Amino acid sequence: MTKRRKYITKKKSQKQKQKRIMANFLFITGIFAALACWRHVPKNISHGHESVAADADVFLGNPPGSTTDIENREEDKVGTDAVYNMPGEGSAGTDWHLILVNPWNYLPKDYEVSLMTLESGYQVDERCAADLQSMLQDCQAAGFCPVICSAYRTEEKQERLFQNKVNRLISRGYSEEDAKVEAAKVVAVPGTSEHQLGLAVDIVDASNQMLDESQEHTKVQKWMMENSWRYGFILRYPNGKSDITGIIYEPWHYRYVGKKAAKEIYEQEVCLEEYLDMKQQR
Ligand SMILES: [Zn+2]
Repeated sequence: MTKRRKYITKKKSQKQKQKRIMANFLFITGIFAALACWRHVPKNISHGHESVAADADVFLGNPPGSTTDIENREEDKVGTDAVYNMPGEGSAGTDWHLILVNPWNYLPKDYEVSLMTLESGYQVDERCAADLQSMLQDCQAAGFCPVICSAYRTEEKQERLFQNKVNRLISRGYSEEDAKVEAAKVVAVPGTSEHQLGLAVDIVDASNQMLDESQEHTKVQKWMMENSWRYGFILRYPNGKSDITGIIYEPWHYRYVGKKAAKEIYEQEVCLEEYLDMKQQR
């Protein structure tokens, strides 16, 4: 072997060694990060968790620290009668990531979605899974502990959440008819929940599992609100947009819209409804 070749071979093996050390380092760091988060993961957050209901009391101001039903609490509708006619973005196709589902736009009939199951057991549309995972990993790498507490829901699941709410109101003395009207004000009517798309996830900070506005002050939410657009996700129900979204401010509900739209929505500080409206007018 010539001197030069020897030198190259030596260099190569040094590089391989460095690579191995770096891989080991990343692996060990990963384990520590995962352990740190795991310690903080609230054990009572789980898919299908049923606890005390969030109901109309939500709007009367529950005392801080009162029990919250993670599944029912989110997508608390603002109880407006506004009719918001959006362009037919409901069909699948190239704009699958911009599909609009809100109190006035039902999920398209027979909507089909290919799901991917995440490590946590939650499922999302497989087309947004990689970006979601990158986002969560980067949030962890920044030193925070994001925890998914809701993702894809079937129509049956949403129906069950809605019916639970109706039942609780009936047990409080409401007629069935009135109970349904009241329930619809605080739990998304089956077919109008974005979670049925598989493109929405509720993410909380492991240190605070309350689905209320206190969430916005957590480190995870601060990071998410600043960075989620880079991964194609938007904070779907921002503060001050409830009249348009039909849903109260939810600093935990993120929706995948693709990177291009997410960047524009973030930069222009609009909600999805406004963005789609602008897009149509262009
Ligand atoms: Zn949600």
